Amino acid sequence: MQKASVGDVLQRCVEYHGHFCIGQALGVRIAMKGLELAAPEGEKDLIVFVENDRCIADAVLIATGTRLGRRTLKLADYGKMAATFVNLAQDTAWRVGLQPFELGEASKDEAKERVLSMPDEELLSWKKVKVRLKKEDLPGKPQRVVTCVRCGEKIFDGKDIADEGGASGPVCVSCLRGAYYEPED
Ligand SMILES: [Zn+2]
Ligand SMILES: [Zn+2]
Repeated sequence: MQKASVGDVLQRCVEYHGHFCIGQALGVRIAMKGLELAAPEGEKDLIVFVENDRCIADAVLIATGTRLGRRTLKLADYGKMAATFVNLAQDTAWRVGLQPFELGEASKDEAKERVLSMPDEELLSWKKVKVRLKKEDLPGKPQRVVTCVRCGEKIFDGKDIADEGGASGPVCVSCLRGAYYEPED
């Protein structure tokens, strides 16, 4: 199989993301390095953790073919420009991030050219890592579905917590620790 060029992959990312930005170029470089390290034979059995929900997240998603709704893309909300590429079949994982570098006063076109043409060693940093995935985190049928004893809503995939208050049964995160929303009358 012929490998897609950086330019082709970037083009697909820009179409999905809605604009060209340096985040797309950086995301493509991170993703292509991650694929080279963790999935040289293709994207089957690949799970990717992306460490922010900004521009690079869309580039990583498109470039790797992973999807949040298929449980192959996970958001680790660290606010960092990095991603980890897990090969489930081989039980290997690589975290790819950026070297410290400045684009300074470069125009958008110059910055794009630089990001796309810089050697891996100057632009990126990578390290072999171990990712311990629970069976509830894997793609496929839900391994655990329970009902929250407080709100009555279903909780999938082992995200429930034992009720520390001593009630009888599992509780959802929002009931136990508070939610990102508040009810309004
Ligand atoms: Zn963007
Ligand atoms: Zn609840």
